[in-house]
Amino acid sequence: MMRYHLMPVTAFNQNCSLIWCDQIKEAALVDPGGDARRLCLEIETFNVTITKILLTHGHLDHVGASKELAQYYGVPIIGPHSADQPLLENLPGQCKMFGVPIIDSFLPDHWLDNGEIIKVGMESYLVLHCPGHSPGHVVLWNKTSRFIIMGDVLFRNAIGRTDLPGGNAQMLMHSINNLLLRLADDIVFLPGHGPMSTIGRERYSNLFLR
Ligand SMILES: [Zn+2]
Ligand SMILES: [Zn+2]
Repeated sequence: MMRYHLMPVTAFNQNCSLIWCDQIKEAALVDPGGDARRLCLEIETFNVTITKILLTHGHLDHVGASKELAQYYGVPIIGPHSADQPLLENLPGQCKMFGVPIIDSFLPDHWLDNGEIIKVGMESYLVLHCPGHSPGHVVLWNKTSRFIIMGDVLFRNAIGRTDLPGGNAQMLMHSINNLLLRLADDIVFLPGHGPMSTIGRERYSNLFLR
């Protein structure tokens, strides 16, 4: 079975998450945006083995501690889609824009493509490329557990902002309407910020989707 634990990080309250397979206790750390030391201490309490770091997109608050933690755990950084390469190359610029200490730019060990399957222990996640909030944004869908790691595409009562570099409102709505809202109402998702929701809840009550 898939298990998860939320660990909000940075001043942006970004939902970094630990996801693991409870059969063989292999885990992935998703979107470690900062607060590396606190994450390590919290992760230790779960008795799981981190095998990879997964990134939904190239924004500072989602990727800031990736390099440091990849080195600490000796694991690869996987994702986002290569269309976010310019964002990752300009991490120092993003830091300046938000007035936070500079983080060196880095590239992942593996870019993700639409339709790719990622394994975390015995659990499988299908990669959906959902551009709009950023060009290379991906969401990770665990079909068996009916669970999506959403990043900043769709939130409870909101949608991703599109005013940051590379953002595109039309593309975002296309991703939401053609990829996400085609899925079933009961699917639970974990957004990059704020509380959890379901596809159905947003379909019927998210004012941005009217
Ligand atoms: Zn973002
Ligand atoms: Zn974010």
